[in-house]
Amino acid sequence: MPNPATPAFLARLAAALPPDTLRPPEPRYLEEPRGKWQGSAGAVALPHTVEEVATIVRACAAEGVGIVPYGGGTGLVAGQIAPSGDPLIVSLERMHAIRGTWAEENVLIAEAGAILADVQAAAAGIDRLFPLSLAAEGTARIGGNLSTNAGGLNVLRYGNARDLCLGIEAVLPDGSVFHGLKRLRKDNTGYDLRNLLIGAEGTLGIITAAALRLFPRSASESTALLAVPSPRAALELLARAGARFGQTVTAFELIHRQGFDFIAETMPYIRIPLSPLPDWMVLTEIGFPQAAGPAEEALESFLADAMEAGLVTDGIVAASEGQRKELWLLRETIPEANRNIGAIASHDVSLPLSEIPDFLARAPQALARVADIRINAFGHLGDGNLHFNLFPAKGRTRKDYAAQAEALTRIVHDLVHDLDCSVSAEHGIGRLKVDDLTRYGDAAKLAAMRAIKTALDPKGIMNPGAVLT
Ligand SMILES: Cc1cc2nc3c(=O)[nH]c(=O)nc-3n(C[C@H](O)[C@H](O)[C@H](O)COP(=O)(O)OP(=O)(O)OC[C@H]3O[C@@H](n4cnc5c(N)ncnc54)[C@H](O)[C@@H]3O)c2cc1C
Repeated sequence: MPNPATPAFLARLAAALPPDTLRPPEPRYLEEPRGKWQGSAGAVALPHTVEEVATIVRACAAEGVGIVPYGGGTGLVAGQIAPSGDPLIVSLERMHAIRGTWAEENVLIAEAGAILADVQAAAAGIDRLFPLSLAAEGTARIGGNLSTNAGGLNVLRYGNARDLCLGIEAVLPDGSVFHGLKRLRKDNTGYDLRNLLIGAEGTLGIITAAALRLFPRSASESTALLAVPSPRAALELLARAGARFGQTVTAFELIHRQGFDFIAETMPYIRIPLSPLPDWMVLTEIGFPQAAGPAEEALESFLADAMEAGLVTDGIVAASEGQRKELWLLRETIPEANRNIGAIASHDVSLPLSEIPDFLARAPQALARVADIRINAFGHLGDGNLHFNLFPAKGRTRKDYAAQAEALTRIVHDLVHDLDCSVSAEHGIGRLKVDDLTRYGDAAKLAAMRAIKTALDPKGIMNPGAVLT
């Protein structure tokens, strides 16, 4: 275990930094969205520049003090929360500048503390799109997005955070600065440190800035919420949409009615447009370039064909930008409704598309043998990524299931592993899934990961307890 950030250490460090860089930790740094973990910290450091980050990391390295890099605090696997050890939290929130934009290159450079929604707005300001989009985009920061290799709603078309990053500037665990902030699409100069740091969840260094890929904005978009008879029908619909629209299918989300039932139960003022509510729905969006004509007409004609083929039984195509936003708001409210109910256990699993119907049939059967629960399965079907979350039966609370929660997760993850799939699709390992990584991870990969960690961070100061024990 690294050393705590003691008052004596903090006094020495404060002398090397501008006033007000170190502060006692406010409660928000010690909480996480699902309210399951409580953090500890000696202090929070709020650096303004990469040089200050380097000064902080060098001091921590010299005295073996633990560091927890911190973005927006929206991570769902407790990577940003150290429950013990009083480390130094290093929050990038003051480093939020957009350092530059290059519309002709489709590139933007943002500091790690830039809020995702601000990066999207900066891209829109030069008539470009930064396509990373997730429900926490008003709080999550680019450094956190890259460190968790976040996915979100548009991976189907644009890829995940890793695919959207051309270059990185970072402070490594010895305090040296990696100047990898290149705007190059080709750079075959040996090991790829950028890709090592992306998805490392703060265990190999602190990302301080990133060169990000932008895209032309769609000239015409259309969004629809559709009732489908089954997940298998949803997959057939996805395949047909791919054949008809190619890369212009931006999102293809699967929604089970349980998510909308939770919204109705805990936020009855939100209007749910489909009635009667079907068991399974798809929220899909297409975005056309100028030359392709109006997206709405194309989507409507596609849906007419899909209804004739029995793949869609009911649906709404958004008739205005306001309606389009309403449909997306519904989808993005599902995590909040889940939180209102209080999950017994949440799972973020990745499966080959063709295994999904089988998984969705088998997992509830296996779980029902052990406990009376409600299941909310939803997620990014186009990416094979399901959020498979377990909730108490009506009239009970998650506390009633405290003794069973671990066994229930084991059932889900064992099934995922048996199918040769992944127990972490887009949220990462953090502290929540360290045991899962040890149990299910490939032995050679784990050994290589440990060797890399030891080589770069021999004192284990970077985010101790996250990803690897
Ligand atoms: C309502 C809601 C919806 C969400 N939806 C999605 C979704 O659709 N897809 C998805 O992928 N995720 C989703 N998430 C999870 C979360 O938003 C992402 O993981 C996000 O990328 C985390 O960013 P952050 O800035 O909040 O990071 P934090 O929570 O602060 O940190 C996350 C991890 O990254 C490390 N870290 C943070 N900043 C840095 C840095 N500069 N350098 C090195 N390490 C760093 C931390 O130590 C920690 O391990 C959702 C979360 C919520 C609350």
